[in-house]
Amino acid sequence: GGTACKNESAVVPSTPPSESFSKILIVAGPSGVGKSTVIKKIMECIPNTFAFSVSHTTRQPRPGEVDGINYHFTTKEVMEQLISEDKFIEQCDVHGNMYGTSKMEIERLNSENKIAVLDIDIQGCQKIKKRHDVLQMNPVYIRIKIAYEELEKRLTGRGTETPESLKIRLDNAKAELEPMPGFFNLEVENQVVEDCAKELVSFLETVGVLGLQEDGSSHATCIK
Ligand code: 5GP
Repeated sequence: GGTACKNESAVVPSTPPSESFSKILIVAGPSGVGKSTVIKKIMECIPNTFAFSVSHTTRQPRPGEVDGINYHFTTKEVMEQLISEDKFIEQCDVHGNMYGTSKMEIERLNSENKIAVLDIDIQGCQKIKKRHDVLQMNPVYIRIKIAYEELEKRLTGRGTETPESLKIRLDNAKAELEPMPGFFNLEVENQVVEDCAKELVSFLETVGVLGLQEDGSSHATCIK
């Protein structure tokens, strides 16, 4: 997590919704920006409301990753079969592996009355937006950002990356941080995780994807 101080100008004005949003929350942003930490904070604080959309991937599991929890780990052959059967709302190649969000996953989570949280890359976001009409979905698009120099510092300082993987991540981060005027409904800087999580929660309440607490107060108050 970051230690620097967040200022008000870090929040980019949101794009107003054109129609009511569906219960799909897309969280984009570069690797290392702290997306999963922010999402975890929100899910801990607001129970039984959100659920991760588990993507399919052909990438090998990392130590500690569990099939069906982190991803549905699968083969290229199975993935291609599913694509030909039109089972995905989007699928992309990221760093040489295939990733995809299945329709079934979103439908399952929504039928359980959960807000489906998608952690996908920019290409995936663009593909979904292009297909809004066909998909009859109107997700909320959020991007979590930090300055490129800050990301470089964090990823280098972490010391977990080889020079090669550091280069791939940083190259990819440039694309993930590219200005995309009007695309995202909210862009928020992750300087302090709690502030970022609060910002996101308040936004979801404002657009009606998330209701208020029973006493009428914002869920943001429980994020500490
Ligand atoms: P990782 O391999 O580190 O888990 O994920 C690599 C990248 O793939 C991340 O930017 C992540 O957001 C993205 N990703 C994960 N699942 C999907 C998916 O279903 N679709 C797309 N388009 N990107 C995904």
